[in-house]
Amino acid sequence: VAQIIDGRAIAQTIKDEVKAQVEKIVSSAGRRPHLCVILVGDDPASAVYVKNKIESANYTGISSDNIKLPNNSTQKEVVDIIKALNTNADVDGILVQLPIAGHMDERTICNTVVPHKDVDGFHVLNAGRFMVDQKAFMPATPAGVMEIIRRVGIKTRGQNAVVCGRSKNVGLPIAMLLHADGNHDSNAGGDATTTICHRNTPHDQLRRLTETADLIVSATGVRNLITGDMVKEGVAVIDVGITRIVDPKSGKARLVGDVDFESVAEKASFITPVPGGVGPVTVAMLLQNTLKAYKREIDFYV
Ligand code: NAD
Repeated sequence: VAQIIDGRAIAQTIKDEVKAQVEKIVSSAGRRPHLCVILVGDDPASAVYVKNKIESANYTGISSDNIKLPNNSTQKEVVDIIKALNTNADVDGILVQLPIAGHMDERTICNTVVPHKDVDGFHVLNAGRFMVDQKAFMPATPAGVMEIIRRVGIKTRGQNAVVCGRSKNVGLPIAMLLHADGNHDSNAGGDATTTICHRNTPHDQLRRLTETADLIVSATGVRNLITGDMVKEGVAVIDVGITRIVDPKSGKARLVGDVDFESVAEKASFITPVPGGVGPVTVAMLLQNTLKAYKREIDFYV
């Protein structure tokens, strides 16, 4: 029977580590680290994510602003706000909650955030540096997946890892981290033999790969993509996916992952639940990045 990974407890540990460092900074008369979160529109899921980020920042002592803009804001308005924050010396981290409204270009928005304040790691310079093993802000969800793997002690070196999902912000950087060299100074990888599956992977091919996988990370938003009959005994499973479903009996909404938890937990060695797995750790990694941004740990000009 699987060990159920307690993402909330891991996140709490990381947040306490950040909190201790913030206290140290403030007690030695330093300026308090500051995070700005920009939310465009009224998507309820995005509002919940932003609220969690602000509350967690408060907990660690990182001060924050939540800049809320109406859905009909123009791209230029958002860009101008980001540019003002870029040059504001009191602001350490800037993040724009995605997905951004359809009439704006996500790439332009992400590339407007100056790289040294880009705590989501979505600026092309951070993505590119990460790709070539230079110090960079790592996107929070992939960083969170690696952090869980490390803190729990899941073996990756020489193991077969299957990543479901190839998005630039989630699936691809997870695969990047898992396959990369563990001896690199920055962004040390998992040294796993890593396979990426996506929406064009036929299900029987996916099954062939998951059957021999030692580690499965699923980040698709496809409910029940991974079932117990597709995995081997002892597999470690990290479920990144989030799908909101309404229980037909109670009429209540709840969140589920990509993995059929009951059947997979019977065979797995480790498994993350949804909710309470990757989600909270993602938020904790964002705060770790904000602290890094404050300390200017990354030199972007080398
Ligand atoms: P996305 O829609 O950009 O990407 C989905 C990916 O799934 C695509 O690469 C697609 O090819 C792949 N896919 C679709 N059907 C598939 C199938 N049948 N088999 C294999 N792959 C398939 O979404 P995203 O931004 O990458 O997010 C992925 C999931 O992770 C979503 O459910 C999202 O809500 C969740 N998410 C969770 C967190 C967290 O903190 N827990 C953070 C970000 C995203």
